[in-house]
Amino acid sequence: MTLKERDKKHLWHPLTQHKLHPDTIAIVSAKKCTLTDEDGNTYIDAIASWYTCMYGHCNPYITERVAAQMQQLDQVVFSGFTHEPAVELSEALINILPENQNKLFFSDNGSTSVEIGIKMALQYHFNRGEKRNILLAFEDGFHGDTFGAMSVSGLSVYNGPFEDYFLDVKRIPTPNGENHEAILNQLEKLVLENDIAGFVYEPLVQGAAAMKMHNAEGLNQILKFCKDHHIITVADEVMTGFGKTGKHFASDHQDTKPDIMCLSKALTAGLLPMAITSCSQAVYDAFYSDEMGKGLFHGHTYSANPLACRAALAGIELLQSDAIQQNIKQIIASHQAFNTRIKTHPKVKSTRQTGVIFALDLNIEMERYGNLRDRLFKFFMDHGVFLRPLGGTIYILAPYVITADELEKVYQTIEDALEIL
Ligand SMILES: *Cc1c(COP(=O)(O)O)cnc(C)c1O
Repeated sequence: MTLKERDKKHLWHPLTQHKLHPDTIAIVSAKKCTLTDEDGNTYIDAIASWYTCMYGHCNPYITERVAAQMQQLDQVVFSGFTHEPAVELSEALINILPENQNKLFFSDNGSTSVEIGIKMALQYHFNRGEKRNILLAFEDGFHGDTFGAMSVSGLSVYNGPFEDYFLDVKRIPTPNGENHEAILNQLEKLVLENDIAGFVYEPLVQGAAAMKMHNAEGLNQILKFCKDHHIITVADEVMTGFGKTGKHFASDHQDTKPDIMCLSKALTAGLLPMAITSCSQAVYDAFYSDEMGKGLFHGHTYSANPLACRAALAGIELLQSDAIQQNIKQIIASHQAFNTRIKTHPKVKSTRQTGVIFALDLNIEMERYGNLRDRLFKFFMDHGVFLRPLGGTIYILAPYVITADELEKVYQTIEDALEIL
């Protein structure tokens, strides 16, 4: 029996309706930008396995460091203990984060990093004796699948069974360059009627909303408003972090810096699950007290796992290298050239790009998980390119190490796919 046949017996996959989508593809190996399945077919990983392995799969620069760490220290409790990989990572990460970020809190996936950001924002006010219990978020945001993260996610496609249990969240539209006066007016009203504790947002690019992009200056105005009203700002950079927007972080594109940042996905270069919620000294200080109860009583068993810290350290070194910075510039230029070639195609409604993230909307109505979307996905896979269209949006977010030839094949396959629609 093949792996994909054996899979069906006991495995339950994420974000899957197994009755409608019974089939999986069994991947047996990955190298650089190439995935290989059990039948020997290869696929260019044009979405970097959900934006994680930005320096390529099984990159020896990273795997060797993790392998060496395995021989030295595998895992230890991070409550009361510390270790070199965590200390070194804190120094390296603080060095590249926006200048107001000063403390790091570890967890193990993007959703929990947001959960922690929400708890920090709520308890920040609680510890200071202020009752604030409402959160603010963008429409169409996605922040993960745990309860707090689901609550702030506007994009609750299939969250129906849980909505009664959500936190109280008010929503504002994303700034499009023209509406920020209207948003600020809406915010003025909202703060009069609600005790808003925090604003949770994806800066510049909303990933799961099909790479929806918004205006950096408009976002800056919203952040300034929040600062002025003592609303704790929580930037969910789980997707945008580590170079994707052309700068190390999407928050580097705004003058007003977030109080809290959520990091995961590319943090560990696709090797091991880990997340970090970073915060400013001011946030940390609200928890620093003679009273036990004012501490942040949150912890995960694998917090700051030494192997994951080593992977993250190697990833940050690569991100800062000239080679990777050069690759990022090349991908940006290459997407721009592709844009001029595809944007006038009759089946393309619109295109957009932020850094290495390129997206195009098709001129054709499509359900998020409908048949047409499935046909498109199958076409890409049959042609050796792993792209995961989100409804009628096709986006590219390839590893930084993708070659010019591979990128051209991705573009060409997208163009060919438009012909079958
Ligand atoms: C993927 C993602 C999350 C959730 O991260 P998980 O590790 O899948 O829990 C949260 N926020 C954003 C912006 C993401 O892209």
